[in-house]
Amino acid sequence: MALRKLVAGNWKMHGVSSDLTEIGAIASGAADHEGVDSALCLPATLIDRAVRSVPDYSIGGQDVHQNDKGAHTGNTSAAMLLDAGASLAIVGHSERRVDQCESDAVVKAKAEAGLGAGLGIILCIGESLEIREAGQAVSTVQAQLDASLPAEADPAKFAIAYEPIWAIGTGKVASPADIGEMHDALRERLVAAYGDAGNQVRILYGGSVNASNAAEIFSVRNVDGALVGGASLTAEKFLPIVEAAAAS
Ligand code: PEP
Repeated sequence: MALRKLVAGNWKMHGVSSDLTEIGAIASGAADHEGVDSALCLPATLIDRAVRSVPDYSIGGQDVHQNDKGAHTGNTSAAMLLDAGASLAIVGHSERRVDQCESDAVVKAKAEAGLGAGLGIILCIGESLEIREAGQAVSTVQAQLDASLPAEADPAKFAIAYEPIWAIGTGKVASPADIGEMHDALRERLVAAYGDAGNQVRILYGGSVNASNAAEIFSVRNVDGALVGGASLTAEKFLPIVEAAAAS
């Protein structure tokens, strides 16, 4: 049976008080699609105000530190995100894996810290263009998943996002055939790790998803939603993606 889809927006380093109106428009438009889960992962500075202005909508962070407190300047713990009202967080986004040199082991520890504290977690994985062109995308991303997966995960609280690095913010999208091949391969690894519960973990696709390509992407087997960057910044661009998920 198809899993309920999740469409999550990643606002990256975008968003100040004046964007609360847009967040309100996204939350109220998404409420028209009860069959789809939808969320916005915002800069940490905006989470508290967003939660207060749209209390019935899911607001998340874009990272969570693996420790619960301590001397980690500039970082945010799971307890802090929960305290601000967040219900989920992204971990292992390729921009953090590159910019902050986050290893699979660190991403795994972050996922475990977030889940352990009660946050929902979206764990990102994906290959570079060089790896794709060398024909090693599936084996590389499977290995990345194996090394990043939390030891235990409640499928209701845990999703993975396959995001080819070369497709993020570039307007290039993986073909439906390539997405299907990868998502099937990732499903195998989830079942190997978690048994039948691995069939319930949602596998999102991310990388230049927009209103024009969402329906085709959502029709691919084992695509259980999307992680959306640029097209999540406005209701006008994001809501058609939520609508496509509802229609799929
Ligand atoms: C992302 O940042 O996770 C992402 C998929 O970005 P975009 O949709 O802009 O490619």
